[in-house]
Amino acid sequence: MSQIIDGRKIAEEIKLEIAAEVDQLKRLGLKVPHLAAILVGNDGASETYVASKEKACHKVGFKSTLIRYKADLTEAELLSKIYEINNDPDIDGLIVQLPLPKHINEQKITQAIIPEKDVDGFHAVNLGRMMQRLPAFISATPYGITLLLERYKIPTEGKHCVVIGRSNIVGSPMSILMGRNTYPGNSTVTLCHSKSQNLPELTRQADILIVAIGKPDFVKANMVKKGAVVIDVGIHRIASSETKTGYRITGDVQYDEVAPKASFITPVPGGVGAMTIVALLKNTLLAAKKELYK
Ligand code: NAP
Repeated sequence: MSQIIDGRKIAEEIKLEIAAEVDQLKRLGLKVPHLAAILVGNDGASETYVASKEKACHKVGFKSTLIRYKADLTEAELLSKIYEINNDPDIDGLIVQLPLPKHINEQKITQAIIPEKDVDGFHAVNLGRMMQRLPAFISATPYGITLLLERYKIPTEGKHCVVIGRSNIVGSPMSILMGRNTYPGNSTVTLCHSKSQNLPELTRQADILIVAIGKPDFVKANMVKKGAVVIDVGIHRIASSETKTGYRITGDVQYDEVAPKASFITPVPGGVGAMTIVALLKNTLLAAKKELYK
């Protein structure tokens, strides 16, 4: 039977560590980290994410500012606010919650945040620095996964890591991190996507399988090698007549089938999702210390 990787527990431990650092900063009379978030429009999921980020900031003692705009905000107005925050010495980290309304170019927006405040790690400079193994803000979900692997002391060196999904925010950076010449890393990495042939054949070779595909319950038991470490990034709300809420939360992995075969597995909810916000907090603390770009 597999060991469950308890993302919630690890996230709480790391929040306590961050809170202790913030207390220390306060004792020394130094400024506490300040995260600003911009939310455009009123997408339900984005509202939930931003509210959880604000709550987490308060929990560890960070200052947090939420800037809300209506969905008809122009791209120029949003850029102007980003430039203002880029130059505001009181704000250490800035995130713009995605997705943005269709008339705003997301790429232009993420590249407008200065790399020193890009705590989401989406800026090309941070991605490039990560590629070159320089200190960088690493995007929160892959960073959170590396923290889970570390805390559970999961061996990665020489292992075959198969990542399904090559998005800029999850799959691609994850594949680079697992191939780095450090721990967690030093794995032999296969990056799969929608054009990959014979996917189950590839996934069955994985010692570590990281799934970020965005399709509910996609990975079945016959796609997993016995004893594999399975990391499920997906998160979906599926209508269900069996729950009081009328829906159930599931990941990209068919948990009940796969768990008995895995050595370690992340549940959904309570696995990777819990770590994403903590990774963002860690990046914000790093930004406040101003050490990364010295
Ligand atoms: P995404 O941008 O939609 O990327 C999905 C990737 O999966 C793409 O690279 C796509 O390939 C690949 N793919 C799609 N169908 C496939 C198939 N049949 N076989 C193999 N590969 C296939 O998704 P994302 O933003 O990375 O997110 C993935 C999942 O993670 C979503 O459920 C999302 O909600 C969740 N997520 C969770 C967190 C968290 O904190 N827990 C954070 C971010 C995302 P192509 O490139 O060829 O199209």
